[in-house]
Amino acid sequence: MRHFLVFSLMAFFFTAILLLGCSSSEKSENSESSGSADAASMQLIILGGPGAGKGTQARAIVDTFKIGHISTGKILRQEVADSTELGMLVAGIMARGELVADSIILTLVENRLKAPDCKDGFILDGFPRTIPQATGLEGILERRGDTSIRVLYLEVSDEEMTRRLMSRGRADDTEETIKNRIGIFHQQTDPLVEYYDKKGTLIRINGEQSIEAVAADIEAVLSGK
Ligand code: AMP
Repeated sequence: MRHFLVFSLMAFFFTAILLLGCSSSEKSENSESSGSADAASMQLIILGGPGAGKGTQARAIVDTFKIGHISTGKILRQEVADSTELGMLVAGIMARGELVADSIILTLVENRLKAPDCKDGFILDGFPRTIPQATGLEGILERRGDTSIRVLYLEVSDEEMTRRLMSRGRADDTEETIKNRIGIFHQQTDPLVEYYDKKGTLIRINGEQSIEAVAADIEAVLSGK
C-alpha cells in the first residue's frame, strides 16, 4: 500500500512537471511570434524633414489606428514650460538646437511607452535621432516583448521642403535658416534611413503629394492593402 502511494505521488509530480514544461514552451513560442514582424503590430517610427508633413501624418495615423503619439520634442517642450528638473536641464540645449543626451531621451521614451495609450501600438515622432537611440529603442522593445517596428519615411526633395517652409512665412524661416535646418536634418536622418533600410524595415512614402494622397498611401501600407 505504501509503495502504491509513493508510486502515485511520483506519477502525479512527473505528470505535473511534464504539463508545466509544455505550457512554458508554448508561452515562449507565443512571445517569439509577437517578436517577429507581425502585420497587426502598430509599432511605428515616422521620419521626414522639416515641412515634410510628419506631424500632420502622425496625427492622422493616431486617429485611424488609435495608438499613442510620442513626440520627444513636444514632451521636452512641456518639461521646459513646466520648469521641471528635466526641463531646466535641457532648456539651454534645446534653445541652441543641439541634441539632448541619448540616455535622457531613451529613459523618457521607455517611460512614455508604459502609458495606457501605447498598449496597442505607438508612433514615434522626432525619435530616434541617432544610431545609439535606434539601438537603445531595440532594447526597450525587447523589454516590452515585441521587437517589431516599421519605419515610415516621408520623402520630400530639399527644393520642395524649402518651398513649403518659405511659403509659411514665419519670422524665423529665412532662406539661410531653412537651408541650415535641412542640412541638420540630413546629417541626423540619413544614417537612420540607411540603418533601417539595411534592416528591411524602411517604408518610403512619396511625401510630395497632397496631404490626403500621402495619408491614403500610408493607410494602405499599414493595413496591408
Ligand atoms: P523637435 O520638435 O522634434 O524638433 O525637437 C525640438 C528639440 O528637442 C530638438 O532640437 C532637440 O534639442 C530636442 N530633441 C527632441 N527629440 C530629440 C531626440 N530624439 N534626441 C535628442 N534631442 C531631441
